Amino acid sequence: MTPLEFDQHHLWHPYTNVTKPGPTFVVKEAEGVWLTLDDGTRIIDAMSSWWSTIHGHRHPTITKDVHDQLDRLPHVMFGGLTHDPAIELGRRLLDLAPDTMQRIFYCDSGSVSVEVALKMAVQYQVSLGRPARCEFATIRQGYHGDTWKAMSVCDPVTGMHHLFTGALSIQHFVDRPPIAIDADWSDDPARNGLGALEALLTENQDRIAALILEPVVQGTGGMYFYHPEYLNRARALCDAHDIVLIFDEIATGFGRTGQMFATDHTSVQPDILCLGKAITGGTMSFATTMTNEKIAEGIGGGDPGLFMHGPTFMANPLACAAAGASLSLLQRGDWQGQVAAIEAQLRAELAPARALPGVADVRVLGAIGVIEMDHVVSADIAHGHCKEMGVFLRPFGKKIYTMPPFVTSPDELRQITAAMLHLAKVL
Ligand SMILES: *Cc1c(COP(=O)(O)O)cnc(C)c1O
Repeated sequence: MTPLEFDQHHLWHPYTNVTKPGPTFVVKEAEGVWLTLDDGTRIIDAMSSWWSTIHGHRHPTITKDVHDQLDRLPHVMFGGLTHDPAIELGRRLLDLAPDTMQRIFYCDSGSVSVEVALKMAVQYQVSLGRPARCEFATIRQGYHGDTWKAMSVCDPVTGMHHLFTGALSIQHFVDRPPIAIDADWSDDPARNGLGALEALLTENQDRIAALILEPVVQGTGGMYFYHPEYLNRARALCDAHDIVLIFDEIATGFGRTGQMFATDHTSVQPDILCLGKAITGGTMSFATTMTNEKIAEGIGGGDPGLFMHGPTFMANPLACAAAGASLSLLQRGDWQGQVAAIEAQLRAELAPARALPGVADVRVLGAIGVIEMDHVVSADIAHGHCKEMGVFLRPFGKKIYTMPPFVTSPDELRQITAAMLHLAKVL
């Protein structure tokens, strides 16, 4: 068996049928925006490896800090012990995050960060003597991860998890915010979606611990960009009903939307913030759940006061070192100009797709470019075009999209947009 044959016989890939493997490239090396395949072909990683490699692959600053950490302390348990990479990363997170976010829980992956956030919300409500508040409200077409409780707040129909419906907790859903980011805001609660949200929260306030949503950008659930004013109003509704507000910024955090966090498009802050994906610059799996003092003190003042979560590899020093290095690169501030330039170029170069047959919409925000087709497209067929285009794209549903690394040059980005237009014609 060749290595690829072994892979295709034995290894499960994300969201695939292990008995009918799809086309797969063997990647030997990566540097900057480029992947080198086993036959020597170089292709641009236009997905930032699921939105994570914002500084490109193998950024020398991150690589050096991880190497140095590997030589000193690759791992130590976090119960009763601490270390410099965790503390240093914490300082950087406090510098960058919305200022009410003061307490940091380190965890292993985005889904776990969401689990932790949901647990915190329930434990907060229990601490305040409201144990019946253990359900969640959210908006449709969201995506929050693949673990059980996270799945329960994904879109119940299109969220990839509908076959588990019978095994999931029932949550409370309203339609996604109907007003898009670039449309005019309307104060009419029947038109802006807040009438439905208010009705849901009012009717179920004795049962709902928290409202969870992806602020401004719904990622995997539809690559839809909605009006930030919705979030300002949702904050007020949560305050009125003492419902915890969770922003899942696992996709949007660290500059992707043109602001450091999508929260920064609004005039409010959440009670709990989930961060992941780009946090280590795509070096390894890691995430955090941050809270304000209200949540931390609510939990701490209750019985037992301990927050009941603690993964074995919590605050792994290698991951903290990678994240600290990635955040230090963001603190230099170059990302702002880079993302603004990417946004302008994506707008200009994707606009012609609007005129193509089969294209339903073209959307750009920050370093996110989407061509939405009027039909479902095949990632496997797209795969067949990647080498000749020199660009790795992996469409899902009706969306052909890119989330390029922030360091993508204008020439490389031109190659990506040309590939997207090509796929819009052939898929
Ligand atoms: C990717 C994603 C998650 C899940 O993160 P994993 O690291 O894949 O577990 C959760 N929420 C959002 C918004 C995401 O984009």
